[in-house]
Amino acid sequence: MKAALLKSPGVMELEDLPRPECPPGGALLKIVACAVCGTDVKMLQQGHRDLAYPRILGHEIVGRIVEIDRASGLKEGDLCQVWPGIACGRCGPCLRKEDNRCRNMKIMGFNFDGGFAEYMALPVQSLSRGANLLPENFDPALAALAEPLACCINGQELTGVSEGDVVLIYGAGPIGALHALLAELKGAGKVIIAEKLPERIREIEKHTRARVIDLSDDLSINPSMDRSNDLESIIQSETGGSGVDVILTATPEVKMDSAQLRLLAPGGRICIFSGPRPGNYEEQIDLRSMHYHELMIVGAYGCSSRQNRQAVELLTTGKIRADWIVTKRTALSSIEDAFSHSSQRAGLKSVVCGV
Ligand SMILES: [Zn+2]
Ligand SMILES: [Zn+2]
Repeated sequence: MKAALLKSPGVMELEDLPRPECPPGGALLKIVACAVCGTDVKMLQQGHRDLAYPRILGHEIVGRIVEIDRASGLKEGDLCQVWPGIACGRCGPCLRKEDNRCRNMKIMGFNFDGGFAEYMALPVQSLSRGANLLPENFDPALAALAEPLACCINGQELTGVSEGDVVLIYGAGPIGALHALLAELKGAGKVIIAEKLPERIREIEKHTRARVIDLSDDLSINPSMDRSNDLESIIQSETGGSGVDVILTATPEVKMDSAQLRLLAPGGRICIFSGPRPGNYEEQIDLRSMHYHELMIVGAYGCSSRQNRQAVELLTTGKIRADWIVTKRTALSSIEDAFSHSSQRAGLKSVVCGV
């Protein structure tokens, strides 16, 4: 089979590899769609903490079952979206249904081969909790957004986004867009998005009710420690002086320092959703403000199988309308186009589609 193999940082090649065997108790999947995540681009460019080489990347996976080893409620021919976690099912977090925190976690496309290939093996653990049946005529490229949407569900659960909240999102890329749609669905009172790329601003304004702060002219995503900073005064006027309830980072460019805390209302929460870039994560935080205003900063990484299932439900029922986020589809043989569409931020999401 053809597969895009990442051999070392910067070196990804299309190779002919043996088709994987159907694992005992598991299934063999023919890949129908696999979306490119910002993390895939990061892994290609600079590696990743959880990555082992050589590796077939791709963790936003939709495929058709061609072989299945046992009765699992699924059968040959079924179209499925796959939760990319492979959790042990026995440790404390797994037993608490927080399987994205599994102590023995493996992740497809990180330390287990993923979906940028013609076929992939689904281990037995995936059939018990991670393979989500899709309606037959549902667009597989759209279904591939279930995993990133599930990660957004995780970030918004951790920060308790709820009705009436004012939510500030940094970045209107695919993740910022999914966060905006989800926050609106949860009944957020106001969604504010800070973005600098004009095409992304146009798209988010067209498809959501979010209020956009245009960062294109000199206005930094990072409020300065100087109190006269523009972003801070814009947030104050957007919120009638009360500040935002939740900040979600959907770009690695955000510096998480005390100036961010000044944008928050009392009881405000910040989600470090995007992995911050070096130089942006060793900042001083004003713990005194955190104490007096009961503020919270929480990290989010991945999603649980329950959140993944919920994301599939939101997409397939049309409660979240995200088709506009898929802006490029390529064949596996042109996977480099999909990656450059992502890294150049030309559009939003690119999806590698099979047959
Ligand atoms: Zn991802
Ligand atoms: Zn576990």
